Parts: sequence; structure tokens; C-alpha cells
Amino acid sequence: MTLNVSFRDRLETLEESGKRKWVYAKLPRGPLTRLRTLVAGFLLAIFYLLPHIRMNGEPFVLLNIAKREFIIFGMVFWPQDTYLLGIAMVTFMVFIILFTIVYGRVWCGWACPQTLFMETVFRRIETWIDGSPNKQKKLRKSSWTFYKIYKRGFKFLVFLFIIGITVNTFLSYFVGVKDIIHAWSVGFQGWPVTAFLMGAGTFLGMFIYGWFREQACTVLCPYGRLQGALVDNDTMVIAYDYLRGEPRGKSRNNEIPGDCIDCSNCVQVCPTGIDIRNGTQLECINCTACIDACNKVMKQVSKPEGLIRFSTEKGIENRQQITFTPRIILYSTLLLLLLGFLTYLSLNRNIVETTILRTPGFLFQEQPDGRISNLYNIRLVNKSREDITLELRALNIDGEVRLPDGKIFVNAGSSSEYIFFFYLKSSLLHSKSSKIRFGVFKDNTLIETFSTTFVGPNELQIHEK
Ligand code: SF4
Ligand code: SF4
Repeated sequence: MTLNVSFRDRLETLEESGKRKWVYAKLPRGPLTRLRTLVAGFLLAIFYLLPHIRMNGEPFVLLNIAKREFIIFGMVFWPQDTYLLGIAMVTFMVFIILFTIVYGRVWCGWACPQTLFMETVFRRIETWIDGSPNKQKKLRKSSWTFYKIYKRGFKFLVFLFIIGITVNTFLSYFVGVKDIIHAWSVGFQGWPVTAFLMGAGTFLGMFIYGWFREQACTVLCPYGRLQGALVDNDTMVIAYDYLRGEPRGKSRNNEIPGDCIDCSNCVQVCPTGIDIRNGTQLECINCTACIDACNKVMKQVSKPEGLIRFSTEKGIENRQQITFTPRIILYSTLLLLLLGFLTYLSLNRNIVETTILRTPGFLFQEQPDGRISNLYNIRLVNKSREDITLELRALNIDGEVRLPDGKIFVNAGSSSEYIFFFYLKSSLLHSKSSKIRFGVFKDNTLIETFSTTFVGPNELQIHEK
């Protein structure tokens, strides 16, 4: 069979002339659509509610870049925790790559904000206001009558309202709900950046959901572009079973037709305007609308469901159902391990970060009582929300720490620097340089340890004493 793959040379949503072909997607119905609506409802509820939730007296999530204050799951992270951000980014990248290799574009169809809003919110509103795809097409092509102005005006007003709430919610992740309310209450006086971001976000939202739509997935999204490099024959995709479906259509020339009756329902519901029967395509966002549409048809013609289904290219070729291969299990385990590691690091983060250095220019001093002292600089960062008092003790040797006030005070969310002497009996020194392990104590509980060196006289001098 000679395959016609000319569809790969052009975008399904562009005409030969390069003009945009508007997609009038029909709303799908079926079990997967119901499930997807539930998932979308759940994720959207999380998105809108999260900035209002507090934990341990802190917002559940706040990423205040201007104030360098980051709160995740009610835990405060400071710029000193940047290493966690680094690990989180690496985990995220590995997660994206491994997840995509195994599960394809499931993220795009089921969790990406672009699809969530476009398919679950805006397309439904559009169908509610403008009617079926045929009516939408007619309205689009009609001239600007009062009826069209009213329809367009109403639709975009509803869009604007939803996008406005969404942009406010989104910004509250970065400045906090209280600040957003305050900015509104003072008419954004003194809040020029927030006002600008709000305006820009609203404009962008209207542009994307009002006009750009599926082009964001098919032309712009870098993750979508990555698919070509990550997806292979073992990746889970939405696939048309061509062995079962072809030749499509009614019986002709004594040919026994395949299961596809060429009704084009799968194409009509596709939000990116593609025909999945052409094979796996970069534009497919795995939304499963075509599965529901085709299953409904299969039921009507009394054929088994699953002509379009979740499968792999290999699975379709070898007529196999999707199975959990060792590769899927291995990658999934790796992902879980990485996430577990990050969670462990985040939960076991120390509230105090200590840096200690021997004061430059000072070697050691011999005290009148025969002890040797070294001078150190210590810097402590308090990552908690309360002022703390700390003590410093040597853990591996019997020596004396002498601080100006005997203790260390660090205000909430800030750092303190101290200079302290450490005294050791010379009899305890066996070489020019000894390793000292210090412990930082809060309420007599050891919360951090660190090591440094103690410099004394050289061996010859020690023995002479
Ligand atoms: S081909 Fe099917 S799964 Fe892919 S985007 Fe279109 S309707 Fe969604
Ligand atoms: S919905 Fe199913 S039967 Fe109809 S054209 Fe698509 S694949 Fe063929």
C-alpha cells in the first residue's frame, strides 16, 4: 500500500495559500470526556483555591520574586535554598523527558493549562453562546449585523471576565491575595508593575483564547516541538488501528471494508483539526476526543470499540493491547525516586545555614594560661519565621567557644555575623592543623554541624613545650 504522507508537509490548520483554517471543533461526549472534565474541574479548583489556602500560618504557595520570598506547601524557602530549586529543575526536566518517552503527550491533553482552559472552559462557552460548529462557521462568515455584534460582544465579555479572574489568581501566586486586593482597593496607585502585568496577562489571555487557540499547541509550544525527538514506537499515543480500520468506507469492487466507516466524526471533534487516521502527528495533544467520538460510532454499527485508542505504534502493528513493559516500569520507578528524593530534601531542610571561616590574617595566639586560640568568623542564616537564639559547641574536642554575648542571636528570615575565639589546650594538639567539628544548638538540640580547621604551633614547637 502506498501511503500518502503529504499531510506531514503542511499544517492542517493552514490553507495552501498560507491562510489560517479556523477549527470549529464539535464538543465530544463519552466516558473519556467525562473523566477529562472531572480532572480539569479538579485541577482548575486547585488553581483558583490554592492562593487562598494557608498552612502553618503561611500561604500554601507564594512565589514572591520581588521580595525573594518563596513558600511552598507552607514551608518558607530562602535564596539560600537555591540548590533545591536547581534539583527541582533537574527533576522537572528529567520528569518531562521520561514521562514523554513513556506516556507521550498525556500532559498536553489532560493537564496543560492551555488545553484545560481552551477545551473545558472557553470552547464550551463558545458553543453555548454561538451554537454548534456549523452555526459558529456561519456566524464567522456573516457580515457585521447587530446580531453578530451582540453575539461577539457577549462572548468576549464572558471571556474577559474569566480571563480577568484567572490573571488575578495567577498573579496572587506571586504577590499574595492580600496584596492583590490591596492593589485593587487603592486603584493600583503604587502598584505599577502589578497593574502592567495584569493588563498584559489579560491581553495575552484574550489573544490566545479568543484568536490564537490551537496554534499555541501546534506552532508555538516548545514542549510540543520536543515530541519529535522523544516519542518512538514504544511511546503511548492516541492511535488509529489502521489494520482494523482500512480500507475505510463502504464496500466497493468486492473489497471487504475495514471497520472505519469514514464518518469523519473523529476529525470533527479534534481541537487541533487533524485526522488521526493519517497516523501519529505532532499536532495531536492526546485529548482523547476522537476516541470517544469513534467509540460511539463503533457502538452504532455494532463493531468493537477501540478503533482509535491509547496504544503504541508497535502495539498497533503487532495487534497487541498496551502492556506495562519493563521500560515503562523502570522509567516510572525512576520518576518516583527522583520525586521522593526532592520531597525528602525539602522536608529535611535545615532552618539554620552556617558558614564558618578562620578570620583572614590571623594564625593562632598563645594564651597566658598555655592554651592556643584561633579566631573565626561565623555567619548564620535563619530560614524560619521566628527570632532564634543559638549556642555553639565543639563536638569532637574539649575546647572553649568564646562569643561576645556567649550566644548567637539571629532575627527571623535574616542573617547574623559574629567573630568568636576557640581555645584549646596545647596538649590536645598533635599537629599544626587539627580538624574541629562544631555543633549549632537550639534549645539544647543539635540542629547543624560543620567542620573547620584549628591552626596551632608546628609539631616541633608542640614537643618542645
Ligand atoms: S487526534 Fe484525537 S487525541 Fe489527538 S488532538 Fe485530535 S482529537 Fe485529540
Ligand atoms: S470516527 Fe471512527 S469510523 Fe468515523 S471516520 Fe473516525 S475512525 Fe472512522
